Amino acid sequence: MHPVWYGLLANLAVVTIFVSSWAYIQTMFDRWSPWVRALALGVLFGIGAVMAMLSAFSLEEGVFFDLRTTLISSAGLFGGPVAGLSAALIAASYRIYMGGAGVWSASIGIAATLAVSLGLYAVISKRAMRRRDILTLALLLAAVGIAGMFTLPSEHREAALAHIAVPSAVLHFISSLLAGLALLYDERRRTAVRENQTYRTIIESLPDSLNVKDREGRFIAANPATAALMHAESAADLIGKTDADFYAPPVASRFRQDELEVMASGVMTKIDQKVPNLDGNPKWLSTLKVPLFDESGAPAGIITLNRDVTERRNLALALEQSQQQLSYAMAQMADGVAMFDKSGYMVFCNEQYRNSFPLTQDVRVPGNHVRDMLRASAERGEQTVLELDDLEAWIDQAEAALYTPTEHDVPLIDGRWVQVRTSSSPGGASMVVVSDISKIKTAETNLLALTNLLQQQAITDGLTGLLNRRAFDQGLESELARSQRDKSWISLLLMDIDRFKAFNDYYGHQEGDTCLRAVSAEFKRALKRPGDVAARYGGEEFVAILPDTDEDGAFAIADEFLKGLRALGMSHVGSEKGIVTASIGIACYRPDEHSRGAAELVGRADQALYDAKLAGRDRLTGWKQKRAMGAA
Ligand code: GH3
Ligand code: MG
Ligand code: MG
Repeated sequence: MHPVWYGLLANLAVVTIFVSSWAYIQTMFDRWSPWVRALALGVLFGIGAVMAMLSAFSLEEGVFFDLRTTLISSAGLFGGPVAGLSAALIAASYRIYMGGAGVWSASIGIAATLAVSLGLYAVISKRAMRRRDILTLALLLAAVGIAGMFTLPSEHREAALAHIAVPSAVLHFISSLLAGLALLYDERRRTAVRENQTYRTIIESLPDSLNVKDREGRFIAANPATAALMHAESAADLIGKTDADFYAPPVASRFRQDELEVMASGVMTKIDQKVPNLDGNPKWLSTLKVPLFDESGAPAGIITLNRDVTERRNLALALEQSQQQLSYAMAQMADGVAMFDKSGYMVFCNEQYRNSFPLTQDVRVPGNHVRDMLRASAERGEQTVLELDDLEAWIDQAEAALYTPTEHDVPLIDGRWVQVRTSSSPGGASMVVVSDISKIKTAETNLLALTNLLQQQAITDGLTGLLNRRAFDQGLESELARSQRDKSWISLLLMDIDRFKAFNDYYGHQEGDTCLRAVSAEFKRALKRPGDVAARYGGEEFVAILPDTDEDGAFAIADEFLKGLRALGMSHVGSEKGIVTASIGIACYRPDEHSRGAAELVGRADQALYDAKLAGRDRLTGWKQKRAMGAA
């Protein structure tokens, strides 16, 4: 055997040692980042390449042949650029350090090897590596080895091609193939172990019970969740046992029946079932059963996945129950209730809500938008008080009101009144409660009318319809205050029917009342201004407040009344006049006299009236200053 073979075989041994040592030490780098692992691979294979060079065969002084390329290319293919470059750099440094005639050629060879391996690495980076890739690399490296001989100096080229071209190419091919396959299988083994560990971890920590049984229903494999479900010590305890070891005969045989059916049908089956539990509370399981077959296609067993859905089921039941209670309450309550989501779409409403709006019942259904309901309500004239100048603005406003706490009394076209209350929930939804307040509204209206009537009655004299004494007292006070403010005149007429006692005596009380009504009507007629006030002072005495009226005005009005009364010509046999007449006392405050008060003014009018009576009745008399002074 040519001595070159010994060198190359020694090289093969070096390659084998380094490739297998990587298989052992690489687990140390599992926890490191990928590029540290790549660096370790590169350095190890770089050292390997140096070792290969150390055991190289030297053809001539300075020309070496060895299998360094196998290690450099393996580093590049399995570790990527970091591993390939570090291995190549270490190998090239050593080769340059050794020097010799083939340095240039060797450096080109190392670079070419690196390029080939990294090129292949890039090509397969997106997919899993295949054996074919290793074969490709081996062939390429054999070719690179032969091509490299052509870069040798011409004096060595001839000898190299003649003696070692074929063995070198063959060994390069074999060593790269073996090294590559060894690394590939190791990689695959590691991946399988890793995946296995991952699956095991998933299955072990799975909260769902997962187990495999053989054809006879005996446990072959089970996870801890299965052991917990069966109240067994551990998953290992289950192996070899059947459901009959844990459940009462009827339950166990039911389970067995299910499994036999699944194996017979050969299809995956889902079963929702109630399972008795040792703690007394039955569990609800959602069970998935998958049949297993042997190579001949015969049933071999069954995989079971049990999910405990007790809590979910109880929650669903509780939810259903509370929903039923809620909808019963909603259906029974007197008020209409509707809910809108935060975008304005109706989520829910009860019948009472829809019945509250008969004209828009068809639009007020869940899923519709509140704007459409409002628009329909406005367009169909459901609400009587709507001003539809700007429909969209009204809808905007009503929509916004949905999300703020509001309360509106809305009169409907059919005569009913509804109260609409809105409130917003923290989640942004809106709740609308509609109450029929028609009865309350009617009662309210009646009460208001009654109050008005009572107020009216409280200030009106029942017989004549004029204001009564109390209203006069109040009216005089406020008119005095006003005229004092305005610095204006105010006059008072006090009128008394003449010889009325005699009238009553002769004609009777009823006729007397009729007379009082006629006189009061005439008295009121004499007052022309809206501000003038006529009141019954008491008995057959009447009084008139004439704001902003001076003596002349007051005299004129009093005179007109007396003339009017005479013109009525109501016969009065008890009077010297033969007809009903009256006497009037007039008192006035000038703009500067108001501070004297109401009593003083009435007193003056009374005195004037007395004078009129004294002077022969059927006349008017003004209050005279001197008389007041004389009296004082
Ligand atoms: P004169 O004023 O002219 O001096 O004589 P007179 O008869 O009118 O005087 P007096 O004030 O004494 O009489 C008032 C009478 O008016 C007494 C009462 O019979 C009558 N009278 C008072 N209030 C009413 C009433 O509400 N209805 C009727 N029918 N008579 C009334
Ligand atoms: Mg009188
Ligand atoms: Mg009188």
